[in-house]
Amino acid sequence: MKISSKGILETLSSSYGISEWVSFTPFTAMVQAVLVQQSSWNTVVSVMGESGSVLTPAGIQEMGEDELRARIRRCGLEKGKAAAIMALAAWYPAHSHPSEESSLSLKKQLLSIKGIGEETADFILLYAYSRPRFIIDAYTRRFSGRLGIPFCSDDELRAYYTCGIAEDSVLYGSYHLLLLEHGIRRCGRKPLCSGCPFSASCAFDRSSDAERIGMHEGDNLP
Ligand code: SF4
Repeated sequence: MKISSKGILETLSSSYGISEWVSFTPFTAMVQAVLVQQSSWNTVVSVMGESGSVLTPAGIQEMGEDELRARIRRCGLEKGKAAAIMALAAWYPAHSHPSEESSLSLKKQLLSIKGIGEETADFILLYAYSRPRFIIDAYTRRFSGRLGIPFCSDDELRAYYTCGIAEDSVLYGSYHLLLLEHGIRRCGRKPLCSGCPFSASCAFDRSSDAERIGMHEGDNLP
């Protein structure tokens, strides 16, 4: 494995361009982070396009859980997601100016909300609070395993990706979206290796079919 994190970033950027997470408010980013769980980003964008203006903390508390479920149904798992968003809507007003709260403290509180797991909490830290927290998700694990990056835990993988690049929330946010783009467009369940910008350095590209089975597959990913 010769390619560095910086090399991966440069390859992704030159292949897919600059990516930017678009959220109109920090709370919008929180709602998006919940909705995107096991859903497609396009569906999230569509749902937010229809209901984004009323998905504010006050708007959500006013509409109640039943209406919220109906509005987000297309993203799936609406019961659990609506409960998590209701809880975030109640929690957020006291944490809308978190300059004196550490990332650790914010994450601990987020993880105490039912429906908010490690990955969603990291999404919120990065995209809602602009904290430099590199997100490790199933797409990143699968791509990294295929590429041949050795890792035993998300923390090890995070250390690999953050080594040699600036500790910057905008950069981490773009990098995550680029990894997502590559995972969706090319390095999916059935990877499109021919013509892939990583084919020269990817271990998977040279593997036998038998060796492919059991690598870091995200079972629910396309
Ligand atoms: S060569 Fe194939 S397995 Fe490797 S990164 Fe590209 S699409 Fe994924």
